[in-house]
Amino acid sequence: MDTLTRANLRARVRRLLATGVLPLRSSDQKLFGGHGVGQACACCGGMISPSEVLYEIECLEGSQTWLMHLRCLEAWEIESRTAVPAGPSAQLCRPIPMARADAND
Ligand SMILES: [Zn+2]
Repeated sequence: MDTLTRANLRARVRRLLATGVLPLRSSDQKLFGGHGVGQACACCGGMISPSEVLYEIECLEGSQTWLMHLRCLEAWEIESRTAVPAGPSAQLCRPIPMARADAND
């Protein structure tokens, strides 16, 4: 099993946020808890086993879901606070604004 250190995990999550693979944490996402059945974690890539708590993040707008471990969820929440949005993919879970003064081409 791949056991990332806390620092390595946060660095990995930062990279996933920067490339738009993971969305930024936002209040319009729903969060569900349960137990894993061997799914791959969206943050560390490791398996979420039945003995581990699984968190499912559901996106309202895109109806997408991400599965992650508790410690990965914590790393994601921490890194989301300081991450710079990566472009359109980082905005996945946010409503598309009608018009933005700073988004003119
Ligand atoms: Zn994980």
